[in-house]
Amino acid sequence: VLCVSQDFDFFYFVQQWPGAYCDTKHTCCYPKSGKPSADFGIHGLWPNYKDGSYPSNCDPDSVFDKSEISELMSNLEKNWPSLSCPSSNGFRFWSHEWEKHGTCSESELEQKDYFEAALKLKQKVNLLQILKTAGIVPDDGMYSLERIKEAIKEGAGYTPGIECNKDSAGNSQLYQVYLCVDTSGQDIIECPVLPKGRCASDVQFAKF
Ligand code: 5GP
Ligand code: 5GP
Ligand code: 5GP
Repeated sequence: VLCVSQDFDFFYFVQQWPGAYCDTKHTCCYPKSGKPSADFGIHGLWPNYKDGSYPSNCDPDSVFDKSEISELMSNLEKNWPSLSCPSSNGFRFWSHEWEKHGTCSESELEQKDYFEAALKLKQKVNLLQILKTAGIVPDDGMYSLERIKEAIKEGAGYTPGIECNKDSAGNSQLYQVYLCVDTSGQDIIECPVLPKGRCASDVQFAKF
């Protein structure tokens, strides 16, 4: 049996803060179903190597098949919304994520399992609640990057990678949170390598 099996060492489970995607100079577009709730959304589950490099687009023959995720649709719309323009129902984003990243972990997770694994991981770690408990709320205020990392380490049990982008005024802000996951896609682990974050020492947590 011929089988595309691409090795990888771990996953990055990446969540995005919608306030920080939308307040950049690019702006954003809400899905037709309306403004997503003010919560972190899934960006992706990305196979990665321990040296920081990563495979992509591993299997051109495995095209995204929306019929395989029909049971997950409402869950995906809620937890994995797409905020890019033009306004999208999510299929373009999910299809992109499957083809670029998901096809590189097909040896571990079939398409439906891949999306299910990401949804389960989001449920396992309620980032917004963890931050709120630590007094870190999306109020356009400034928070120390160290405090954000400590809060997530405390609440999730593992050190996160934090990625920042800039709002339209140029302020560094909390954009994405990276957690590392074992190759089964189920268990969070300490990151073998943290992503480069581009954050200032104090960052804004934007309203959404
Ligand atoms: P893609 O992610 O499709 O490769 O990039 C599409 C476009 O999204 C990029 O050309 C870039 O201009 C834009 N982009 C990159 N980062 C952000 C962001 O944080 N917010 C928004 N709204 N657009 C972004
Ligand atoms: P950016 O240039 O905005 O950081 O990343 C653009 C795209 O490259 C991301 O949407 C993602 O698909 C991919 N990417 C960036 N950094 C990483 C990484 O560390 N690991 C993996 N697997 N993909 C990445
Ligand atoms: P990546 O290649 O980094 O995994 O994913 C980024 C791609 O997904 C870009 O082409 C971007 O236009 C598209 N995309 C669609 N919706 C979203 C969204 O809500 N957030 C981000 N970051 N990218 C999105």
